[in-house]
Amino acid sequence: MSSKSTGLRHWRQRFDALFQDHEIFIRTHGHVRFLRVSAVWQKRVALIAAAALLFWAGTMLAVLINQLLTADERAAVAQQQAAATAAEQRIARYRDSVAETAADLAERQDQLDEWYRESFGAEPGAVTGEAAAAPAADAAAPLKTSALDPSLPPEAQALAQLETRQEAFATRLLAAVNERAAKAETAVAALGLNPGALVRNAQAGRGGPFIPYRGKMGQAKALGPSFAALEGALFRMEVLERTLVAVPSGQPADVLMMSSGFGYRSDPFTGGGAMHAGLDFRGPIGTPILAAAPGKVVFVGQKSGYGNVVEVDHGQGILTRYAHLSGFTATVGKQVAAGEQIAKMGSTGRSTGSHLHFEVRLNGVAVNPRRFLEAKADVLEVKADARERVGSVARTGAR
Ligand SMILES: [Zn+2]
Repeated sequence: MSSKSTGLRHWRQRFDALFQDHEIFIRTHGHVRFLRVSAVWQKRVALIAAAALLFWAGTMLAVLINQLLTADERAAVAQQQAAATAAEQRIARYRDSVAETAADLAERQDQLDEWYRESFGAEPGAVTGEAAAAPAADAAAPLKTSALDPSLPPEAQALAQLETRQEAFATRLLAAVNERAAKAETAVAALGLNPGALVRNAQAGRGGPFIPYRGKMGQAKALGPSFAALEGALFRMEVLERTLVAVPSGQPADVLMMSSGFGYRSDPFTGGGAMHAGLDFRGPIGTPILAAAPGKVVFVGQKSGYGNVVEVDHGQGILTRYAHLSGFTATVGKQVAAGEQIAKMGSTGRSTGSHLHFEVRLNGVAVNPRRFLEAKADVLEVKADARERVGSVARTGAR
């Protein structure tokens, strides 16, 4: 304690020694003046100067610190700006991605709607119960459909869900279409026709290979197999069911007895062997002759040996010919329903008495009409179902 106070006194003495009372003589034009500068005054000036120096140093320090802080802040702001720019870019990418995916989804939905309209008309009831029953098994399988970046905000996932629903719908539709096509195939085969050849011929006539649908924007890349398979399946169902509808299974005249069979027989005029290209139905003159299937009347007139003839085109390469008629009740170009009267029975041409000569031609070749006329009930059931669908499409004018 004493040493400290001694030290302090020592410094005080040294400080005091710096400031001595001064008397300054100033002589001007012979006059002498005294200027007294006291030690106390000197000390005050020194203290004020020291205070000013300290103040200046403090201010400079503050400015420096302020500058350093501002630099830090500038760095922070720049960092924030960079983050904002990155976020903007991410949002822009997200928007592009969402917009493109939405465009693809809309396009695919349009395609699905079009296919549905073309195949089932506008009536939702046109798809039979199988369509509703089909989904469970197929829908259970997880569908990898999302074309969106999984790191994107959850709102974007709504589109992915929509995509999944779309694919699930395509899967259900495909199952229903395949089931119908399979039934039609069995029925067509039972009628002695070749389902594979029918579809291939129709495909060749249609021109070009199937192009599985892909989104224009290219975002919805993960298309499920159902969507791609749908177009081919619809085409196959269409060909087979339209063939069934075109099959002339209706009685061409309301008479029971068939007087003559298809194939080789003895010619009633020459007695020699001759090919009989159709079936003969015996009945009174004027008996109504009915279209055996829906179609378009393409010939009304005379043909050598056949006498008066009407021909009806049923599509799918199937044509029926009605001969030896006594009169016509239809004109060329008329659309006729199955069972609609087109002519009257007669005995014109090479005929030995009133009867109908009924021919069925498949791609220009005469085939035995018996297999169509004697179609089994299960085949006729599938045919009726097909006629209902094709009819509903025709009614809604989708085709
Ligand atoms: Zn005949």
